[in-house]
Amino acid sequence: MRATKTTRKASSLALGALLLLGLVGCGDDDGAAPLDDAGRPDVDAGPAPDAGPAVDPQTLAYLRADLADELVLEVDAAEGAGPTEAVLADFMSSLGAIVDKPGGIRVVESDVLPPRGEAPWTLDELRTLGVERFDGAGPATLQLLYVDGRFRVDGVLGVALSRRSLVVFRETVQAVCEGRGGLLGADAACRVAEGTVLLHETGHVLGLVNAGLPMQSDHEDPEHPGHDVDPNCVMYWAYESGDGVGGALDVLGGGSEPEPLQFCEASLADLATAAGR
Ligand SMILES: [Zn+2]
Repeated sequence: MRATKTTRKASSLALGALLLLGLVGCGDDDGAAPLDDAGRPDVDAGPAPDAGPAVDPQTLAYLRADLADELVLEVDAAEGAGPTEAVLADFMSSLGAIVDKPGGIRVVESDVLPPRGEAPWTLDELRTLGVERFDGAGPATLQLLYVDGRFRVDGVLGVALSRRSLVVFRETVQAVCEGRGGLLGADAACRVAEGTVLLHETGHVLGLVNAGLPMQSDHEDPEHPGHDVDPNCVMYWAYESGDGVGGALDVLGGGSEPEPLQFCEASLADLATAAGR
């Protein structure tokens, strides 16, 4: 799929009765950028002259054509816990709006992860798993870890692990979306829920909001650093927690096929500027 510069209208999902309980972060709610790990690909180029020195070379490799012709989505998933084709199709469509990849976006189904069992995941364990399992078929490889089991903090649906890796807790997502969706059905609800979490964590990997990508306008939520102040944007802080995503699903309904929430104009502007566009 060729990347385009079309922008997608933010989902019109209204947010009704959100029950926003406590801290349900994605592991980076302390305001720090997603952490680098030791073995990221060596991208042999610095930031674009107009992108500023703060933008990570790996981020630029994801966004720009001259640093990497294609974007590779490396899926490392536990048995039966991987992303559905529909979710990947939505995800690639969303990425197509922000990356310039003449060679397209390619999905590589890589490792099958061993069963986790009952013990909840810790951040350190997930980071170690990500490094161990990362193959990196190209300089712009984004690792999607789909683990079984749950995170040590209840209700967390996804975590950005580094500048090249994220994790989705599919079972926790399923627990939120099944039984929701009303007339649209659980499949539609789960597609929206999973797609929203996947794109949210990707935003963190890329340095949104103000966590590696300089802001072109002020859209960071002062109460939740690294997140968008607008609840209609996928980078709103609640969209990595069961309460936040569940609340959004509760107000889905009617009309056209629902979509995962998307990057808003302010985030798209940050991405485009960093990429030198
Ligand atoms: Zn987040």
